[in-house]
Amino acid sequence: MNKRIIIAIDGHSSCGKSTMAKDLARAVGYTYIDSGAMYRAVTLYALEHGLFSRGDIDADALAAQMDDIHIAFGRDEATGQPVTLLNGRNVEREIRTMEVSGHVSPVAALPFVRAALTRQQQAMGRDGGIVMDGRDIGTAVFPEAELKVFVTASAEVRAQRRYDELKAKGQDVTYADILRNVEERDYIDSHRALNPLRQADDARVLDNSHMTIAEQREWLLREFHQVVGN
Ligand code: C5P
Repeated sequence: MNKRIIIAIDGHSSCGKSTMAKDLARAVGYTYIDSGAMYRAVTLYALEHGLFSRGDIDADALAAQMDDIHIAFGRDEATGQPVTLLNGRNVEREIRTMEVSGHVSPVAALPFVRAALTRQQQAMGRDGGIVMDGRDIGTAVFPEAELKVFVTASAEVRAQRRYDELKAKGQDVTYADILRNVEERDYIDSHRALNPLRQADDARVLDNSHMTIAEQREWLLREFHQVVGN
C-alpha cells in the first residue's frame, strides 16, 4: 500500500478550500479536517460566554477558559457530512454565521489559541492520510506535508460564492457586508504576527477564480497522484 501522506490546503477566506478538500479526501479515502472550524468553535464559545465587549475579545478570560473548550469532529447521521462538536454539542450551523465570521480573526490571532489548536491539529494528522485546510497548515502545522496547495481567487468572486451559499441556507445577508468581511479577514489573517496566512515556498498555487469544481478536482487529483507516484 502507498504511504498515506499529509495534504495541506491553505488559502484566503471563502475560496472553496473546504469543498475541494472534502472532495479530495473522499476521492482518495483520507480524513478531512477543517481547521477553520476549530477557530470558529473557539469564537462561538467566546461569544456564548460573553467574552467580547464592544467587539473586543477579553483575551485573559479566554486564556483562563481554554482548558474548558473541547473541540472534536463527528458525523451527521442523516447527511454523512462531518460536523464540528463544541464540548460535545453539534455547532456546525452556529459556527458558519456572519456573527462568528465577524469575530473569528482576532481570536485566531491570539498566540495561546493558535498554540492549543495547532497542537490538536498535529495530533490529528500524526498518522497521515489526512487532508487539512486552513491558513497555516503548510507553513506552521505541517511544514513537512508532502502535498501543499495554496488556493486563491479574487475577493469579489469569493464574496459572491459566500453570498450564494449563505442565501441558499436562508441567512439574511448582503453582498456588500460579505465582501467587507472577506477583505477584513484577508487583511487580519495575512498581517497577524503569529503564523500569518502566506504561501509556503513549496506550495502549488491554484487560482480558481475561473475554474469549475470538476476542473479543480481534476487538478488536485493530478497533483496528488504525482506526489504519491501512481
Ligand atoms: O476557513 P475559515 O474561513 O472557516 O476560517 C475562519 C477563520 O479562522 C479565518 O478567517 C482565520 O482567521 C482563522 N483560521 C486560522 N488558521 C487556520 C484556519 C482558520 O487562523 N488554519
